[in-house]
Amino acid sequence: MDPVRAKKHLGQHFLKDESVAADIAATLSGKGYDNVLEIGPGMGVLTKYLLEQPFTTYVIEIDTESVEYLNANYPKLHGKIISEDFLKYNINKTFDGKPFAIIGNFPYNISTQIVFRALEFRDQIPEFAGMFQKEVAERICEKKGSKAYGILSVLAQAFYDAEYLFTVPEHVFNPPPKVKSGVLRLRRKENYSLPCSEKLFFTVVKTAFQQRRKTLRNSLKTLNLSDNLREDAIFDLRPEQLSVEAFIALTQKIEADGI
Ligand code: SAH
Repeated sequence: MDPVRAKKHLGQHFLKDESVAADIAATLSGKGYDNVLEIGPGMGVLTKYLLEQPFTTYVIEIDTESVEYLNANYPKLHGKIISEDFLKYNINKTFDGKPFAIIGNFPYNISTQIVFRALEFRDQIPEFAGMFQKEVAERICEKKGSKAYGILSVLAQAFYDAEYLFTVPEHVFNPPPKVKSGVLRLRRKENYSLPCSEKLFFTVVKTAFQQRRKTLRNSLKTLNLSDNLREDAIFDLRPEQLSVEAFIALTQKIEADGI
């Protein structure tokens, strides 16, 4: 069967370096789950290394031409190919509440949305690994005080330990992307439920970073906080100065303020 023709609008850059594919597939520990979901398998360069491992691999792919290719070339995948858009698919049609890990050489145009979607399913996802545009992978793993530290860093690291693993150059893809790529791994923390309202935590983090150059006193005005609370010294800070723990403490204070 002919190889799949790369489609730009689907973010298709096929990895052609087998050793990089093997290295990415090896980032999963296999601990705490029996099933793995690969997002965007394309022609299966990563999939074939996943299929050698002791867990069960499922793939979700939006491109029907890739799905046909996978069906024709990977008999072991039969019944495990989900021909859907990951961002719209109800993952529990496949996993029925069971834990699973996520992996992929992700389509870069939707990679941050993939992380947000995975965070919604954090109770079922003990491990998440994959390749992103390098800057995005770095941003997810970044600590407070840097320019790249933002919503994605705080929300991911609230629930997961994030590790930037390695950088992948442009020329190992067909067609080569314009940017370098970075591989990261997220491992869910042992006690990952937050000691505050998680819904409010998401709101506080997102609202604060929407105006990242302002102090929290200004950026969080829309949350209608009491004057008393707004005098607290934490509101003199800008969002990039707050660690994950500080955002949790801030959320607790706002909660106690009774919003
Ligand atoms: N993993 C392959 C392909 C990477 S390119 C490799 O390393 O070679 C990204 C892949 O994600 C493409 O196959 C593309 O069709 C797929 N994709 C893009 N948007 C998607 C979505 N919303 N849901 C599932 N797959 C998607």
